[in-house]
Amino acid sequence: MERAFRRGVLDRTESSQAPTYTPTDFYTRLDYFATFDEEICQMCGACTIRCPFGAFHHDGTLVEIAGLQVRWVAFDPQNCWGCGLCAATCLTGAIAMTQLSARD
Ligand code: SF4
Ligand code: SF4
Repeated sequence: MERAFRRGVLDRTESSQAPTYTPTDFYTRLDYFATFDEEICQMCGACTIRCPFGAFHHDGTLVEIAGLQVRWVAFDPQNCWGCGLCAATCLTGAIAMTQLSARD
């Protein structure tokens, strides 16, 4: 896996565009996915740093919370690979993990 990741970094140096690899190049899709409760989220941004695939990210939107302008945290479930790092990082409980195979 380390060798594959190094190849991705090299790809990044050849272009200003995002690297072309996808999570499937390195990880098996896990049986979980993250769900995001925007009402609970405090927009601290910790999950955007933690998520390896950019499913949690800043999209440039600013919102006001308690009189402060903060960066909106967006969630793209298509990029979630189910690792659970975001849920383990979030201190507010805004992220929960759900088992895919347990869904109806
Ligand atoms: S770590 Fe939790 S509280 Fe912080 S931005 Fe992410 S979802 Fe929101
Ligand atoms: S479960 Fe993993 S891949 Fe999915 S959003 Fe959280 S950190 Fe990203």
